Amino acid sequence: MSISANYIKIRQEIPKEVTIVLSVKTRTVEEIEEAINAGATDIGQNYVQEAGQMYSALQKKATKVRWHMIGHLQTNKINKALRIFDVIQTVDSAEKAAAIDKRVEGARKRIVPVYIEINIGSEFSKAGIKPAEHEPFEEYIEKLVMDMSKLERIRVEGLMTMGPRFGNPEDVRPYFRRTRKIFERIKALDSPNVDMKYLSMGMTNSYRTAIEEGSNMVRIGTAIFGKRKCDIG
Ligand SMILES: *Cc1c(COP(=O)(O)O)cnc(C)c1O
Repeated sequence: MSISANYIKIRQEIPKEVTIVLSVKTRTVEEIEEAINAGATDIGQNYVQEAGQMYSALQKKATKVRWHMIGHLQTNKINKALRIFDVIQTVDSAEKAAAIDKRVEGARKRIVPVYIEINIGSEFSKAGIKPAEHEPFEEYIEKLVMDMSKLERIRVEGLMTMGPRFGNPEDVRPYFRRTRKIFERIKALDSPNVDMKYLSMGMTNSYRTAIEEGSNMVRIGTAIFGKRKCDIG
């Protein structure tokens, strides 16, 4: 099937309140354009440099979609990232949050929505905050959110997680469930500058399970574009 047919099929299959973030790493501008023409509203990129090139090449079309940073963000790339991205999904420490907050004004933005990235499987090879390193984890995240809520130029709007990759998506369910619980807990805090709206979890092999477990934002590449030629994700 074509990219547009794939996008339309998934869009119809999942509830309309679930946002699809198109994961575009390694894709061509033509491929991304096809998905935008089919209705894609949100784009996720892992790399600031590649995002900048895509943004320029897409010209006017780039301004019609929301751009999400979904890869690890180095402090020295924050200024550039703020010029491209509308949302930073990968805040993994209070220091990173403060570093973003400090640079928002220079990027001529008022407030930048951010999500906290949780490495719910505590996987060595992945970014995000690992529960195994910060138990009791729920308290740790609450404290982080309180600290972040003092920063006036960012607003915590969600949680993001990858979750371990299993052959059987059923195996990731308990990890998604735990992430959802943390999401609900932060929401209940009702802190200033915090508006927990988005639970970003689920990819090609797990989005159905993720939605069943309360995700309202899935990040999908392969199921729309086909297999990546060089799998760097
Ligand atoms: C690559 C990537 C995705 C999409 O993965 P697919 O399996 O191709 O759907 C989602 N989230 C992040 C953070 C990624 O790096």
